Amino acid sequence: MHQSDSSAPGFHLLTYGCQMNSRDSEIISGLLTQAGYKAVPLAEAQLVVFNTCSVRHSAENKVYGKLGEVNKLKRGKPGMMIAFGGCMAQIPEVVQKLKGKGVDIVFGTHNLHQLPLLLERLQAGEKQILEVWDQHGEIIEDLPSTRREGVSAFVNIMYGCNNFCSYCIVPYTRGRERSRNGRDIIREMEELAAAGFKEITLLGQNVNSYGRGASEILDFAGLLQQADRVPGLERIRFMTSHPKDMSDALIDTIAAGEKLCEHIHVPLQAGSNSILKRMNRGYTREHYLELVDKMRERIPGAAISSDLIVGFPGESEADFQDTLDMLERVRFDAAFTFMYSVRTGTRAESFADQIELSVKQERLMRLNQKQYGIALEINRALEGQTLEILVDGPSKTNPDRLTGRTRTNHIVIFSGTKDLIGKPINVKITAGKTFSIFGEIPVE
Ligand code: SAM
Ligand code: SF4
Repeated sequence: MHQSDSSAPGFHLLTYGCQMNSRDSEIISGLLTQAGYKAVPLAEAQLVVFNTCSVRHSAENKVYGKLGEVNKLKRGKPGMMIAFGGCMAQIPEVVQKLKGKGVDIVFGTHNLHQLPLLLERLQAGEKQILEVWDQHGEIIEDLPSTRREGVSAFVNIMYGCNNFCSYCIVPYTRGRERSRNGRDIIREMEELAAAGFKEITLLGQNVNSYGRGASEILDFAGLLQQADRVPGLERIRFMTSHPKDMSDALIDTIAAGEKLCEHIHVPLQAGSNSILKRMNRGYTREHYLELVDKMRERIPGAAISSDLIVGFPGESEADFQDTLDMLERVRFDAAFTFMYSVRTGTRAESFADQIELSVKQERLMRLNQKQYGIALEINRALEGQTLEILVDGPSKTNPDRLTGRTRTNHIVIFSGTKDLIGKPINVKITAGKTFSIFGEIPVE
């Protein structure tokens, strides 16, 4: 189907979850555009595509809520189609639930490239199409993609995960770990730099194990060294690092890199050794603290951020205190905090000692309070410093101001002209608050 823009059917894509899903959505948009569709607001859409997340129950609930809303729209709009993909689609119980729920196509994370074909089958008269691969095929390079506009772009370096943390659904929805060829990654980075992007974030569930078990000769440190030489870029970021696989060579590479930002997202998840063991994380709090010391010693000014879970099955008050204690010892620049959410099919689902919701809520509140205090202290300590920020664009809270990020990933709000977008500039920090940092361009 190739039509002129005005007559092209409109699609609207709803994206939930992590950066991987954002990147997948760029590919879904690219595939649909190539197939003759055009992006439109939800109310005008002939096709609504859900790209879903299943990492926590709350993420799934959000999707079901929206699906109800979209179905209402569909009832008043004959011929409207709903396609449902992403991580939730990889879960057989979810697919069962979707039967008779107005969804026309269900497609998974391993076969999103098939969406245009599935749409053709639907238009040829097939009824509800459920096409979810339970295994991944070869990595497909060169799929079309409509990148979101801006200064920064995401590049996948690997897919899936082999770690099987006992709480986590990702290895089931994203499959086994597999790495892209280094040459393809560097080529994509070069193309993005040539297209004007200034910052690239390399994505993987566990970037530190890049290349492992593949014919790939590069490890992650080697890939970063090559990435650092791509001309035209200002900054390179990467996520997520796993504490068990963070090698000395990798730390030294980050320290030596010119564009490699000194920010490492290295989730701790919990501060108690017995909980870490039951989570199957493969490290202890002592190992993590050693790692933090090493990173701070070798990478001057390194910022460290984390994901943390409260209320994992069996977490006692003493275990939780261990997490609070780690917050004080490490002093994370940022932390994403979550209540444990039981996921069907994971090992922790069968753990008998699940924690009551009220206890989880109360612990999450205490954890956040502590982290907010630490963030405020860290942000206040920046006051008076002049830092290089890469200007992202207008501030979301105040479009008259601009925002940019420091190399350490702190967001700074300041006044400036739009021609600064995409440029690295020096900004003097004037006020560090809990949730925001303000600055001004120094007068020469
Ligand atoms: N691969 C990354 C890692 O290991 O750090 C992160 C993947 S996951 C999409 C992002 C975060 O969600 C995890 O770091 C963890 O803190 C959180 N998470 C995963 N499963 C969870 C669950 N069942 N309940 C609550 N939080 C969960
Ligand atoms: Fe999930 Fe653990 Fe893999 Fe991260 S490393 S995606 S938390 S299984």
